[in-house]
Amino acid sequence: MKKRIDEILNRISDAAARRGIDGNDITLVAVSKTFSADDIFEVYRCGLRVFGESRLQEANEKIKTLSNLNDIKFHMIGHIQTNKLKLVGSNFSLIHSVDSIYLADKMNRYFESIGKVQEILIQVNLVNEPQKHGVSVNEIDGLINSLIDKNNIILRGLMFIPPFYDDPEKNRINFRNMNKLFENIKVKHKFLKDFNILSMGMSDDFEIAIEEGSNMVRIGTAIFGRR
Ligand SMILES: *Cc1c(COP(=O)(O)O)cnc(C)c1O
Repeated sequence: MKKRIDEILNRISDAAARRGIDGNDITLVAVSKTFSADDIFEVYRCGLRVFGESRLQEANEKIKTLSNLNDIKFHMIGHIQTNKLKLVGSNFSLIHSVDSIYLADKMNRYFESIGKVQEILIQVNLVNEPQKHGVSVNEIDGLINSLIDKNNIILRGLMFIPPFYDDPEKNRINFRNMNKLFENIKVKHKFLKDFNILSMGMSDDFEIAIEEGSNMVRIGTAIFGRR
């Protein structure tokens, strides 16, 4: 396991170097969905600290089991239904999957009620895939503007899940367009502070995503093995 993780960290560093940045500036989220708390602990002992989960109930059980590890962090990377918000609690340091004004509204009220300020990303459906969650490009400004008066959520950036291709190079243009969108938002929405996370890149395409501007990769299979 240690060898596998070190190899991924090296590949992240190399891809970052090709873009002229330091590999330490890329956050590696180890996607542990479907794997056990024991599996997470093994990866933790190899040095990784940030884990991504996509189902709230499943995540919460593991988070509870591992609550003695005080520097472990969990990110929520899956879709959240508004009627499940109470399962979110203070369990996640970052939520990657905010995809509507309606959800943002309910979230803000929920986090206000529990006295928490939650960091979030907006999930973008860049090429309007009908089966995918995420806001389309022309809805993003509306969603961002709706956050101006929301004090219990902080928008930190964007998240993107690309279309599936056998050849991940086909997504290079989508990663590049995501980075353009990300940079445009920084210019357009001056009220945003700390809007600096671009979450894209998975096991099969993380090097391409980093070369095109990603600074947070979500890697499951290449660390934990097949689900
Ligand atoms: C499962 C998942 C990943 C990890 O995918 P791998 O191909 O296993 O690396 C990344 N992001 C999201 C949103 C996922 O659901």
